[in-house]
Amino acid sequence: MADKYEQVLELAKRRGFIWNSFELYGGTAGFYDYGPLGAMLKRRVENIWRDIFVINEGYYEIESPTIGMEEVFIASGHVGGFSDPLTECQKCNEAFRADHLVTDVVDNPDTLSADELTEVITKNDIKCPECGGKLGKVYEFNLMFKTSIGPGGKRAGYLRPETAQGMFVDFPRLLKFYRDHLPFGATQIGKAYRNEISPRQGVIRLREFTQAEAEIFIDPRDKTHPKFKEIENIELNLFSQEGQAAGEMQKISLGDAVKNGIIAHEFLAYCLAMTYRFLIRVGVSPDKLRFRQHMKDEMAHYAADCWDAEILSERFGWVEVVGIADRTDYDLKAHAKQSGKELSVYISYDTPKKVEKFVVKPDMGVLGPMFKGKAGKVANALKALKSEELSGDVIEVTVDGEKIKIDKNSVKFETVTEEIHGENIIPHVIEPSFGIDRITYSLLEHSYFEEEAGKEEGIEEEEVEEKRIVLRLPPEVAPVQAAVLPLLSREELIKPGMEIVGKLRKAGILVAFDDSGTIGRRYRRNDEIGTPYSITVDYKTLEDSTVTIRDRDTMKQVRASMSDIADNIYDLVYGGKSFEDAGKKI
Ligand code: AMP
Repeated sequence: MADKYEQVLELAKRRGFIWNSFELYGGTAGFYDYGPLGAMLKRRVENIWRDIFVINEGYYEIESPTIGMEEVFIASGHVGGFSDPLTECQKCNEAFRADHLVTDVVDNPDTLSADELTEVITKNDIKCPECGGKLGKVYEFNLMFKTSIGPGGKRAGYLRPETAQGMFVDFPRLLKFYRDHLPFGATQIGKAYRNEISPRQGVIRLREFTQAEAEIFIDPRDKTHPKFKEIENIELNLFSQEGQAAGEMQKISLGDAVKNGIIAHEFLAYCLAMTYRFLIRVGVSPDKLRFRQHMKDEMAHYAADCWDAEILSERFGWVEVVGIADRTDYDLKAHAKQSGKELSVYISYDTPKKVEKFVVKPDMGVLGPMFKGKAGKVANALKALKSEELSGDVIEVTVDGEKIKIDKNSVKFETVTEEIHGENIIPHVIEPSFGIDRITYSLLEHSYFEEEAGKEEGIEEEEVEEKRIVLRLPPEVAPVQAAVLPLLSREELIKPGMEIVGKLRKAGILVAFDDSGTIGRRYRRNDEIGTPYSITVDYKTLEDSTVTIRDRDTMKQVRASMSDIADNIYDLVYGGKSFEDAGKKI
């Protein structure tokens, strides 16, 4: 029997959600097209993400190029270290992720070096999974697609492996946009490219995929969140470092998780809450969602804490769909070093701080006649000295390479108290990074049901098969939001049907008009693509201007007036109106 992945993919291909790219030419692994319904579904998922991060949190969206200059990825560490261990079969030349081949014999293969992996493969006599041939020496394969910018191939460039770097590189401009105030955030939804070694996990591991990332720049001295109170009671399935060691997941409120030191700080916990709300809203099942903390040896060396949102898939097990990390000041420091520009923020203190300062006061009345044109430089060199360098009777400074000795009595020094009003600091970055394609597939899988249809109002049993496939997508992510179905394909019913279509379109509802086949089959066609509401026009409509609205999930029907049908459907799709109230004005 086909597993869930096959069932979902069969439906996805047949009904125009997702299919393999370049089918005409035989296709190649790691690339998928979104068809008419899939592209709309994905856009709706992205727009909910925008609603949460851009509209409600105020982290404006930017758009930077998908090709980056080499300097960017040298600074970020991708040129030097963004690689996976590769081994090739000596017989059939097939390439494999070496760490994936040794999962049965070592616990944490992704922490092993290429040489260590070679050793594990040799010692355990691991062979090519395709042909049984001998596997070659493991080496690190960089996952970035390399290209060149401009003619002649003189200037190297890379397709970006993540959208994040665009936000780091734009830091000075963003800081100005946000008028030098922390915290602020920028977001980006766009394509990322990774030349995955051998993507055998279908839609889960792609070579071109869409990320939605937020880079939130915060004051490192204060990692609390002003809205933490609003989310502290949300309970999540947390799989912490200790939990993983003990093989136990715990359901715990975010307030307690921060209090008990499980999650490093409030800001990170707040990002977990936003992630949870987003994933549930788009249709991920709460019982198939957990947050797993990176183990110490798995965490990037610069990260203070890191959690992955993982979704349970029947075929692939727990799949990482979002990474949420406190990246500290690593990225800004790295770009500051590479570019030679300062990437910091001036922070004013609420009340000025008093600090003791050692100051050197050269006597120009003595130094002037003594050093003439050089006196200024000598004075500056003296001012740069530290207290311990002024302890002897003769003070020595170097000016233009020349060592100069000066009598102690020509230099006065003292400790003064100064008021400091602020300082330059390098912000820390909190990054939630979402893989939109994995999320889109997961919500299809979680909303896919095959069920006994039972009897349905107004449908003759012989009209439809007993089994019905239904995508229980949340109404706001369903690609087609309403179907208008005249009971019979007759002019007198088509006309009011088209009138309803016009009203719904004007209200921004994506509506399908379908008058072919029996009504039962038309309901089933719409159930399969997740259309939440079907509006049927019948002969009663001609008498009293009412229609029936059918609910996809319960198959219940209510009679509703044609005059306010657009408001009614809009409220059902976007306004949280329940189907019980579908026919009523509220
Ligand atoms: P990363 O930067 O590796 O933490 O990736 C961030 C998110 O991008 C992950 O949580 C995934 O959802 C997604 N992602 C990473 N690699 C791939 C891939 N090859 N195909 C599809 N999605 C991916």
